[in-house]
Amino acid sequence: PVGIRLENVSKRFRGGVEAIKDVTLAVAPGEFVVLVGPSGCGKSTLLRVLAGLEEVSSGRIHIGDKDVTTQLPQQRDVAMVFQSYALYPRMSVRGNIGFGLRMRGIGKDERRRRVEEVAQVLGLEHLLDRRPAALSGGQRQRVAMGRAIVREPQVFLMDEPLSNLDAKLRVSMRAQLTLLHKRLGVTTVYVTHDQTEAMTLGQRVAVLRDGVLQQVDTPQQLFHHPVNLFVAAFIGSPSMNFVHATVSNGAASFAGVRIPVRPDSPLARGDRKVIVGVRPTSLSLASGNGQPELAVTPAIVEDLGDERFVIFDVDAPRVDTEATRAAVEAQAADDALLVPLDRATFTARLPAGTP
Ligand code: ADP
Repeated sequence: PVGIRLENVSKRFRGGVEAIKDVTLAVAPGEFVVLVGPSGCGKSTLLRVLAGLEEVSSGRIHIGDKDVTTQLPQQRDVAMVFQSYALYPRMSVRGNIGFGLRMRGIGKDERRRRVEEVAQVLGLEHLLDRRPAALSGGQRQRVAMGRAIVREPQVFLMDEPLSNLDAKLRVSMRAQLTLLHKRLGVTTVYVTHDQTEAMTLGQRVAVLRDGVLQQVDTPQQLFHHPVNLFVAAFIGSPSMNFVHATVSNGAASFAGVRIPVRPDSPLARGDRKVIVGVRPTSLSLASGNGQPELAVTPAIVEDLGDERFVIFDVDAPRVDTEATRAAVEAQAADDALLVPLDRATFTARLPAGTP
């Protein structure tokens, strides 16, 4: 397999929108990298630039040892899978998968062999003679995938390929995609707005915001060591809580709780205001085991059967989304430093009579 390198890539559309701003990213040979971020952050544009469907405004793109920056899509050895499968309705599954090979003048026998091989990998053998209309959503999606795989490209580029499937099917296709990648080992760049999909599929995940790459890391690193409030708030479900707090005498305090700050942390020097991020999963109901306790006023309890989420107010200034945005901009300032608290367990004591 080949690697991919984007060097200082920017894309400004006519009309002035700068969709991609100075993105530098290396994808290792055989790696599965997911680009994730909210709608409009530039994910599709970045993928289209990689595919050669959009020209870069500046920067270079390398695939393997070739500089492909000015190459046309058909000159780049990449196959793209889109959200809409765009299968040919009048062709059988066999015809759809083999279409690209036929266009390239590959002979009937070889075409047959390669199509059947791919159908087997994707579990489509028994469907080869059906038309797309007679397939389920998941099967159509696999045919679209088959069309990409059969070309044996150096790189797969996938733009939200699962987003037209219902929730259950999406989860099972996600697992199939991971298995497929294990089996084929083709370098893959995958775009999604869904952080769960990103975290489960990506060997590394690249988080984009307003065209700017925020962090490229393994899912574990992103979750436990987000580089800023945007990444902290975006990754993880349900999302992280933020409160304002003060650090003094080696601990951050809010709502009557003190969280020790490591003496070697820059936060430990002098008194400062900080934003504390706490994942909901780091909180538990009181067990009287001497853990720090947080006095809370519960508002809503969501019962999912095997877990319950308690939505509550704490006696501390809450960081709202807009303030979080502002804090991201002011990342360098004292009051916007993030204290990662994912491993601290608090105890939230609910008043008697709480369901
Ligand atoms: P995402 O895939 O993350 O939702 P896009 O890459 O589609 O985001 O879009 C990024 C930004 O570029 C958006 O502001 C979008 O409106 C703009 N944009 C995308 N395509 C074009 C285009 N062809 N012309 C002008 N602006 C565009």
